Amino acid sequence: MKVYADHAATTPCDERVVQAMLPYFTEGYGNANSLHAFGRDAAKALADARDTVAKILGCHPNEIYFTSGGTEADNWALKGVALHKRSKGNHVIISSIEHHAILTPAEWLEQNGFRVTRLPVDSTGIVHPEALEEAIDDETTIVSVMYANNEVGTIQPVKELAEIAHKHGALFHTDCVQAIPYMNINVEELGADLVTISGHKIYGPKGSGVLYIRNGVKLDKLICGGGQERSQRAGTVNVPAMVGLAKALELSRVDLDETNKYIASLRDHFEQRVEAEIPYIRQNGNKQHRVPSVANYSFEFVEGEGILMLLDFNGIAVSSGSACSSGSLDPSHVLLAMGVPIEVSHGSIRFSFGKHNTMQEVDYIVNTLKQIISRLRSMSPLFDLKKGGTYNV
Ligand code: PLP
Repeated sequence: MKVYADHAATTPCDERVVQAMLPYFTEGYGNANSLHAFGRDAAKALADARDTVAKILGCHPNEIYFTSGGTEADNWALKGVALHKRSKGNHVIISSIEHHAILTPAEWLEQNGFRVTRLPVDSTGIVHPEALEEAIDDETTIVSVMYANNEVGTIQPVKELAEIAHKHGALFHTDCVQAIPYMNINVEELGADLVTISGHKIYGPKGSGVLYIRNGVKLDKLICGGGQERSQRAGTVNVPAMVGLAKALELSRVDLDETNKYIASLRDHFEQRVEAEIPYIRQNGNKQHRVPSVANYSFEFVEGEGILMLLDFNGIAVSSGSACSSGSLDPSHVLLAMGVPIEVSHGSIRFSFGKHNTMQEVDYIVNTLKQIISRLRSMSPLFDLKKGGTYNV
């Protein structure tokens, strides 16, 4: 049996999305900036895609900027605003559990003379508004806090955070890459000035993303060159990918509540079984405020990579919470920020379910997982000590 339970990493491209994209590779292949009929056809497809995205996000089409993905959009938002507003102030605030697409540009800003504050989270991964109130000052130009976290799925009180940022004259950016698959996002209601989304987490193509930039918000360009994207983001636009992103977003809004309920029922069944049948575990995240897809567990006395490899050997695809995207064995910065002890964080796994998973697959994962954990623990000296009663976590 082959089971894919890594939807927070990426999703399969929906067949209807592929069909919508195909004509723009072979027939409508014009450059959307060319003046001839081929170009005009591509420009029309791009304009339609922009309209679709704008309608769903509740904004004007000229506030939608197509990018190569969530990473580019995050980089652009953070660096673009910080650099543009340098004369006003050099302070940037992010949360300590952001994706590396925000953490790394924040480090770059720090190396280039900016002050960066990383907001703490509580043990369930929530950023408390009081922490922002305490950190923000007259020099803060941008606050960036993700809507839903990619490792534990925790949802942040972004509306309140945006209000605080605005009260102090700062802009507010939110990375909605993990929220958009499950939540209706209206940028007006959210109060965000900049919003990131990505195509490949919503059954769309990889290499597609959007940065919403509220009209009137000014930021430096990240990519310079030609005059594409109203001269703000250079490079021939990837028309098929943006058509695909818009189609995927449109499809994801159909029966959103039912799909969420279904995915949550898979996750809940998984969690009930894991919690009842596997001892010495820790559930990471907030059980009330979270997206329906993610279950993150630390399995004490074992290494996440061992679990991941043995699950893979049995046809099951998941992510290890302790290995970052570079494949290093560094502990997860998200779990550490939540106060999970290093040794426990090393045994963490993220399971993320999707609309194509079945209960039968979930049962297969739990049955396999149980065997793997007990096998790994039988080889663990730490577990031996625990059984002997001399080990304390
Ligand atoms: N932000 C979050 C929260 C993510 O989970 C990801 C992808 O894993 C990204 C940003 C990066 O998006 P992309 O893969 O489209 O560059």
